[in-house]
Amino acid sequence: MDENARREIPRDAGAVMREALVTSALESAAKAEEYGLGGDKIILSAKVSSVQDLIAVYRDLAARCDYPLHLGLTEAGMGSKGIVGSTAALAVLLQEGIGDTIRVSLTPEPNGSRTQEVIVAQEILQTMGLRAFTPMVTACPGCGRTTSTLFQELASDVQSYVRDNMPIWREQFDGVENMNLAVMGCIVNGPGESKHANIGISLPGTGESPAAPVFEDGVKTQTLRGDNIANEFKTIIERYVARTYRRKVAPT
Ligand code: SF4
Repeated sequence: MDENARREIPRDAGAVMREALVTSALESAAKAEEYGLGGDKIILSAKVSSVQDLIAVYRDLAARCDYPLHLGLTEAGMGSKGIVGSTAALAVLLQEGIGDTIRVSLTPEPNGSRTQEVIVAQEILQTMGLRAFTPMVTACPGCGRTTSTLFQELASDVQSYVRDNMPIWREQFDGVENMNLAVMGCIVNGPGESKHANIGISLPGTGESPAAPVFEDGVKTQTLRGDNIANEFKTIIERYVARTYRRKVAPT
């Protein structure tokens, strides 16, 4: 700051802080190489807690060195605030091709799971189309056509089901992580979205007959009815996976 104050046109304190971060990271890396560490063993991380500072610092680092960069908004906070902040910052940089590893730093709810931040990190990469980890469930937001929570419960149930099964499927099949599922809340507008998914279901909305058409790769294959729709839909998913994706190992 003293040096900056002596400039003809001093920069603001934020710019000085960002320059200090970048300079510190680059000088530390240069020192490490000077002491004998291979440049290919260095990854730079310069996390900050402000979205705009993070974007500016990493853009600058990316322009001034070839080291891999580890991205993360530090002290992002709890719940939606932490998720939104991390996503906003990381998405801008990743879209520009900046960043080689990522961390999402969420403060867990009391007794909450630390795995939440891993799930959020994976979902950032997957929703941006950069990497796929687990099948994604598209669900409609619900509207005046829905009077029950059935479609929300089914969407949540199906997302948990595919996430829980993914470790097994990953061992057995190639490409299941790219599967798209859709759970929609009415049979007026639901089938359109359902047809775009690998497997989609449109649950009955208000006043609609209690039937749930299922679409597989754009074709209506059956209609589910009754109280066991969730389990029957999961069985359909299981069968779809088994017949669609290339098997890696012979079944035991
Ligand atoms: S699919 Fe149906 S229930 Fe869902 S938001 Fe659209 S109109 Fe509403």
